Amino acid sequence: MKLHWLILLCMGLGIGVGAVIQGVTDGPGWLGVLYSDHPDGGVRVDTVKKQLLKEALASEVGTDKVRAGDRLSHLVFDRGVADKERVVELTSAAVLTEELRAAGPGPIAHLRLAGTDVHRRVPLELDPNSSRKSALAIFEFIADLFMKLLKMLIVPLVVTSIVTGVAGLGAGGNFGRLGTKTFGYYVTTSFLAAGLGLLLVTAIAPGVGAQLGLSPQADFGQRNEDWWLVIQRMIPENVVGAFGDNGKMLQVIFFSILFGFFITRIGPEPRERVLGFFQGAFEVIMKMAEFVMLLVPYGVFCLMVKTVGGTGFGVFKPLALYMVTVFAALAIHAGFTLPMLLRIVGKVSPWRWFRAMTPALLTAFSTSSSSMTLPVTLETLETEGKVSNKTTSFVAPLGATVNMDGTALYECIGVVFLAQFYGGGQIGLAAMVTVVFGAFFASVGAAGIPSAGLVMMLTILSSLNLPIEGAALLLAVDRPLDMCRTTVNVWSDTCGAAIVASTEGEEITAKLTRSAP
Ligand code: ASP
Repeated sequence: MKLHWLILLCMGLGIGVGAVIQGVTDGPGWLGVLYSDHPDGGVRVDTVKKQLLKEALASEVGTDKVRAGDRLSHLVFDRGVADKERVVELTSAAVLTEELRAAGPGPIAHLRLAGTDVHRRVPLELDPNSSRKSALAIFEFIADLFMKLLKMLIVPLVVTSIVTGVAGLGAGGNFGRLGTKTFGYYVTTSFLAAGLGLLLVTAIAPGVGAQLGLSPQADFGQRNEDWWLVIQRMIPENVVGAFGDNGKMLQVIFFSILFGFFITRIGPEPRERVLGFFQGAFEVIMKMAEFVMLLVPYGVFCLMVKTVGGTGFGVFKPLALYMVTVFAALAIHAGFTLPMLLRIVGKVSPWRWFRAMTPALLTAFSTSSSSMTLPVTLETLETEGKVSNKTTSFVAPLGATVNMDGTALYECIGVVFLAQFYGGGQIGLAAMVTVVFGAFFASVGAAGIPSAGLVMMLTILSSLNLPIEGAALLLAVDRPLDMCRTTVNVWSDTCGAAIVASTEGEEITAKLTRSAP
């Protein structure tokens, strides 16, 4: 069976198995928090073992987190439009346990402190003792192994491919031309995506009048800040430190480009030696990537079981219109804008190119990470796409970090959605410009890892003076959106590689033969 069919089959099976587990097991309980009956009534929080939100979010909403010693009187579910608010009086710890078990994981709930109006905001996570957690354990274990194998390859792949790629280009004297084409493509498609996102979110207006259980506040104005930080963060203070963190890929890329470039500026003898080493290392890593490719179908299967089994489909209702807007924008960008560019600029058949790229796209979909997909992307571009090593090794690793069309349009939609909600209506022209540029820089600065886009959204929110707690709400439905926008990110990378290769005269797969004059 062809690899992409096998992956697709495993993905479908994974969704099925996940849905069954979701249906027959009970979840979720409250991970990381121990509580008991309070002597004066209500529930006492005994210990909080774990950060409940991702670090970036947590530091922003720190005052909101539940703390050891809190006395809780009510549990308030605020799942938005469909369910409205539901308040449960916590007469005992058992009531809380029962409620949490009945709830799906992911959605945000509030806990009210006894005798006050103060709320603590918490997302629900799977309890390690629930039967759902144990049913998913083996799949999670294998999925994590698979993701670790992919992560292991990221830094060595990016370094060796960019160093050899840039050194190869520099030696041929066409670094400038290829670089210009590549960056031209990145900037064009990212802005097209961001613009499309803005257009759709303005037209559909999912945030206007939405009932999200947060209090609207119309006082957001404009406060520009932080964009130059993305540029500043590109330069590593310490190379070893940058290499030690998959989230610092822009720094790794920056160093590798310079390193590759200056290889071409030294004498022939040391140049051969250094370049020879990096070329050899690159080939070894690619062989390792080939090996990991064999595991993709099984990794994808386990990832789908883990995702669907853990989250289910129930949490999506309140934010459905927002999700539809994101899906629609992704579909138009991936199904219309990029194919048009492929056909017109690259003279490549979009459909055939899409079919050739499926292993990379399906891996992106199931890992939600462009960087983790990179080994598969490189392998697919070279073996299925017949793109030269010279082009792939320059365009793909750069694209995995810098070129994120799906993320760009998602940033726009998420931010404007929250602005519409908080402001009660559409946003003005000046705010639109901030959002589009913000979305572009956020997509460049976002690491190719799951949920990076959501974390980057915080910078745009703060530049518009919007409360960041809104992003915590979007966290509940981030996973499926992340899967789809990552697929579009990788699809755009492969289209970029095709366009660059084809305009450089390479005979890649799906190239349209020129009609006779
Ligand atoms: N997960 C995305 C990626 O790796 C980034 C994002 O969160 O938007 O491409």
